[in-house]
Amino acid sequence: MKILVINTGSSSIKYELFDMGRSAVLASGIVERIGEKSGNLTHSKTLADGTSLKRTESVSIPDHRAGLKRIVALLLNSETGVIRKRSEIAAVGHRVVHGGEDFHSTSVIDEKVMEALRQNVRLAPLHNPANITGIEISRDIFPEAVQVAVFDTAFHQTIPMKAFLYAIPIELYENEKIRKYGFHGTSHAYVAEKAALFLGVALEELNLITIHLGNGASMAALRNGKCVDTSMGMTPLGGLVMGTRSGDVDPALPFFLADNLGMSLKDIDKLLNEKSGLKGLCGTNDMREVIEKRNSGDERAQIALELYCYRVKKYIGAYFAVLGGLDSLVFTAGIGENSPEVRRLCCEGLSGLGIQIDPERNNRSADEIRDISVPESPVRVLVIPTDEEFKIAQETLKALQSR
Ligand code: ADP
Repeated sequence: MKILVINTGSSSIKYELFDMGRSAVLASGIVERIGEKSGNLTHSKTLADGTSLKRTESVSIPDHRAGLKRIVALLLNSETGVIRKRSEIAAVGHRVVHGGEDFHSTSVIDEKVMEALRQNVRLAPLHNPANITGIEISRDIFPEAVQVAVFDTAFHQTIPMKAFLYAIPIELYENEKIRKYGFHGTSHAYVAEKAALFLGVALEELNLITIHLGNGASMAALRNGKCVDTSMGMTPLGGLVMGTRSGDVDPALPFFLADNLGMSLKDIDKLLNEKSGLKGLCGTNDMREVIEKRNSGDERAQIALELYCYRVKKYIGAYFAVLGGLDSLVFTAGIGENSPEVRRLCCEGLSGLGIQIDPERNNRSADEIRDISVPESPVRVLVIPTDEEFKIAQETLKALQSR
């Protein structure tokens, strides 16, 4: 069965077509700079020998509809394509950033779901409108396929009230649904399942801390396999230091910036979301560059790296206390999977919690799941490559089969 996974952003569409019978990627790609003068398209088809055929195009893509049509044309094309007709695609799995409290799990999309998605736009004005556009277009272009929504927030819906409420007037939760939601749910869920398989223990018997360090970054505490706390909040701005986002700051900071520097709400939003984090501290949001700069003596890069890892370490401590005992700590995403230096700094000095990584195992690079802790470490420290698209495809398949 073929499942197309679509991740629609405000000016981009990322896609991946899976053959679920073989758990194989048939084709993938991204359309970028939609609506700009010159757009970009990168398409990759997996060949029989496992290598891939790549096609890049610089074309003007006026809107998302044109973008998805171009993707379909490439999927059908005799050279770059992998299907003969659209109806071969049984389902389209859509990544949806915010499901609010309406969605605790993956949902087959019908009119009721669309209405609930529209209601949730105010919770994620930067992301949900594009996700909705992607669904609407996909329904037109693939009328025979089942459309499924997979939410970044759903995995965190098991978090108890004491962890998700903010200490502000309770009516703001009751009437406006202002609370912590958490994001990156598909990634946290995916690596948790992989960790259980790797450790040979049922997920329901494991206490885990999962650490997703990509451009965005978040952590989750899982008791008996269920999420009980996470670092991002009502929006993806809270928690850890990220590429361009501040993570936790004093909530009074916006008032100070407005009162003393005359900044508007829009300026402050941009400052905290786009100009802060690693970029704000040392001029780049690419962790490879941060480490290179630090290695050549740049003091701002040094402090950026320290602050980044210190924040992760604080959350490890907090979540250890929340869980009261830990089986495994899991690093994932671009930085978590590829930076031994970040992993080392995050775990440094935690042997008192039973967390001790082996320098040689930590420095070995590999694309597969690995245990980087010393053999006697009570907590297994794992590096697990995430695959959010595949997880969305799996969830889509499950939703399809349980209809
Ligand atoms: P996204 O959230 O956009 O999916 P990724 O998970 O791909 O992001 O992570 C992007 C981050 O991973 C970037 O900060 C990049 O610098 C970092 N990264 C990738 N490879 C390495 C590496 N070898 N060492 C350190 N950081 C890396």
